[in-house]
Amino acid sequence: MNHKIYLDENEIPTKYYNLRADMPVKPAPMLRPDTKQPVTLADLEPIFARELARQELDDETRYFDIPAPVRDFYKIYRPSPLIRADKLEQALGYAGKIYYKYEGNNTSGSHKLNSAAAQVYYAKAEGVKSLTTETGAGQWGTALSEACSYFGMPLTVYMVKASFKQKPFRKIIMRTFGADIFASPSDTTAIGRKMLADDPKTTGSLGMAISEAIEKAVTSDNARYVLGSVLNQVLLHQSIIGLETEKAFQKIGEYPDAVIGCAGGGSNLGGLIAPFMRDKIKGKKAIDIIAVEPKSCPSFTRGRFAYDFCDTGNLTPLARMYTLGSGFVPSADHAGGLRYHGMSPVLSRLYADGQLSAEAYKQTEVFEAATLFAKHEQILPAPESAHAIKGAIEYAKRCQAAGETKTILFGLTGTGYFDLAAYESYQNGTMKDYVPSDAELAKSLKNLPQTP
Ligand SMILES: *Cc1c(COP(=O)(O)O)cnc(C)c1O
Repeated sequence: MNHKIYLDENEIPTKYYNLRADMPVKPAPMLRPDTKQPVTLADLEPIFARELARQELDDETRYFDIPAPVRDFYKIYRPSPLIRADKLEQALGYAGKIYYKYEGNNTSGSHKLNSAAAQVYYAKAEGVKSLTTETGAGQWGTALSEACSYFGMPLTVYMVKASFKQKPFRKIIMRTFGADIFASPSDTTAIGRKMLADDPKTTGSLGMAISEAIEKAVTSDNARYVLGSVLNQVLLHQSIIGLETEKAFQKIGEYPDAVIGCAGGGSNLGGLIAPFMRDKIKGKKAIDIIAVEPKSCPSFTRGRFAYDFCDTGNLTPLARMYTLGSGFVPSADHAGGLRYHGMSPVLSRLYADGQLSAEAYKQTEVFEAATLFAKHEQILPAPESAHAIKGAIEYAKRCQAAGETKTILFGLTGTGYFDLAAYESYQNGTMKDYVPSDAELAKSLKNLPQTP
């Protein structure tokens, strides 16, 4: 038995796979917030690089070539290994097989680098002069800094002030790669100055940081704003995870019975499941595909399928997705990531159509699973990734109870080296399990925008 199934560098996929092309019901189009009409290429081009805008709107083209320079960059840290979790299987007493696709083998420590590389490359190739973005905990900002440094693209990152203070080490990595970082709100934008005047002590929010990053992009010469999750283009780039996994399974003559991943905005899950969901949609395979989310931010399991803003500041187009309302902010007690109020429109459509199911867990049980995994598999998982671990363990337990030996695949999206404060609070018993009340969710859902 091979513990790791590695592909050769030359087996890195040459094309991204666009799952939308094979969806019988397409995700709903994004709408302009002013006219409530579907967004067009012309609407998106001032915000995104042209090729990315094209990818965003294309529901028909099945494959997009991965540009050679992006593939060269991928060779630095890909292919990522598919690993048999045999030690975990033994610990659980599970007679079936568990595999995970590990995306933590790069400096940014997560799958986010896969899309960062593509987004920076296209912008550079089209002559964009600089990029702006926001970052909360810092994984996206780090990945983007890495890609920008490689392709020679100046980057400004607005980092939520609370994280800027609490996660100084993330900031240092971003600076190592040459990014300019501001604690948001900052005095570098008009909207930031207004937010500071309104509340000089504010610790910031993702919504404020997005507003600053967008203002900076539209007021700078030939700059663009980039986003690391939720968007169709990001899921497209992340399909590299699923395509590599499919190839690795072909090598060993196996196929998973269940594919499980954590879901924040849905990009790693959308990428991991892409080829497996294609087979399921086409009726070739009857497999379980499961999204795992935190009980503190339960977009799928308790959200509503509706048009909503993608940001708290309500500047972006409207997307039809499972949402808790753009004003929903998970409790500060929640340390496990996956804090986004909405969910990828692609995954939302698949969930509504019954192709994808979802489960939610409390953070203490997620950290318990993370700890068990670390002890047996020798990798310290990111709290986000640990949701997928928890989902896989629960799936294995259900199989055991039913006397089944199914093959389980889950996505291990990253490492937890910057989440040690969260591990510490789990270990010393101060971690709290926060679950929003129905009244709280009803309150943020009341403000959903009106659409025809
Ligand atoms: C950002 C992140 C996630 C969640 O984002 P998705 O877009 O839902 O994939 C999961 N795991 C890690 C390690 C992350 O950094």
